[in-house]
Amino acid sequence: MNRKRRRFRIWEWLCVLTANDGRCVYCNGPSQTMDHVISFADGGADDLCNLVPVCRACNRGKGGKTPVEWLISMDLRTRWHGGGTAQQCDVRGISLRDMYLSVHAEVLELLDDLDRVAAEIADPKRRSWFVWATYWNYPDPEHGPSFFRLLFAERIEKAKTAGWPDRRPSSLRR
Ligand SMILES: [Zn+2]
Repeated sequence: MNRKRRRFRIWEWLCVLTANDGRCVYCNGPSQTMDHVISFADGGADDLCNLVPVCRACNRGKGGKTPVEWLISMDLRTRWHGGGTAQQCDVRGISLRDMYLSVHAEVLELLDDLDRVAAEIADPKRRSWFVWATYWNYPDPEHGPSFFRLLFAERIEKAKTAGWPDRRPSSLRR
């Protein structure tokens, strides 16, 4: 399948980057970019419903993996500290089964977080605010997403507190 990635408009960048209180869904650090939850190369949608706010380090670390694979590979491959065993063979050993079960709970927690952030990004009232109150054109090399994020920071904060008031032109309201 030969797909072309699309560019994202300023309102789309702002709508995603400021979700989750402007924090990375994976590590809770400040968000800096958008992550395709299911990677574009693997057939993930190039759409807001597949994008979450992340920091650059997590974006790089996750690479083309799904969040589930990423978490499992980090935990199941790197956290044995010399005590890894196939089965529980003595009290000090950590078995693959036990490790898998602990990762499973973490994975479900992460998926819940992703659901929550996806619902925030999909919220029609919030989305409509970004469409009408920010810009419909694209960021350019001189004015990237972070420029507009700073420009709109105060207005976004106020609108959030006010419950995303309707900014559509009155002719479009019913
Ligand atoms: Zn992060």
